[in-house]
Amino acid sequence: MVEISKQANLPTQFGDFMIQSFREKKLFKGESYLLEHLVLRTIEIPENPLVRVHSECLTGDVFSSLKCDCGGELQMALKRIAKERGFLIYLRQEGRGIGLFNKVNAYALQDSGLDTIEANLALGFQEDERDYEIVRFIFDYYRLSQIRLLTNNPAKICAFKSMIKLTREPIIVECNAHNAHYLEVKKTKMGHLL
Ligand SMILES: [Zn+2]
Repeated sequence: MVEISKQANLPTQFGDFMIQSFREKKLFKGESYLLEHLVLRTIEIPENPLVRVHSECLTGDVFSSLKCDCGGELQMALKRIAKERGFLIYLRQEGRGIGLFNKVNAYALQDSGLDTIEANLALGFQEDERDYEIVRFIFDYYRLSQIRLLTNNPAKICAFKSMIKLTREPIIVECNAHNAHYLEVKKTKMGHLL
């Protein structure tokens, strides 16, 4: 079940957006919980809009963590979407879907030498627990039929290809001493097109 908020203006340092929230009720082991996703879109939408589907990473997006490339990707995506027109779909699936608490535990395991995937597996999760069904709902809601998807992640291309006609736009963020290994794992173990 999905509830849809009203739309509101959201001026940002990158440009002016409209913001809207999609509240999704999900079930986990018989317990229901809510995920409040966000969509930022430009006021004018071209026929073939630029779209970024970004999964929440509080440490990277808000605290400028250098352990991953999420914050840089988010800023670059907002900058490009503001200029070229389109949508940022911000999914509240923190830590590849394992949640913030578990992500911090995974970071602790990484401090002892495991990589990002090995740490998730050691905690009893899949390497990627994300689920993109809500995106289909959002594409339908905005009546999108084709998009330019901003991503390096082949799993996302594969997931969205069944929902919509798409072409890929690469997103390249500079690596640093802290995230170089993380990006290498994304490239070699998760097939990212870096
Ligand atoms: Zn991140």
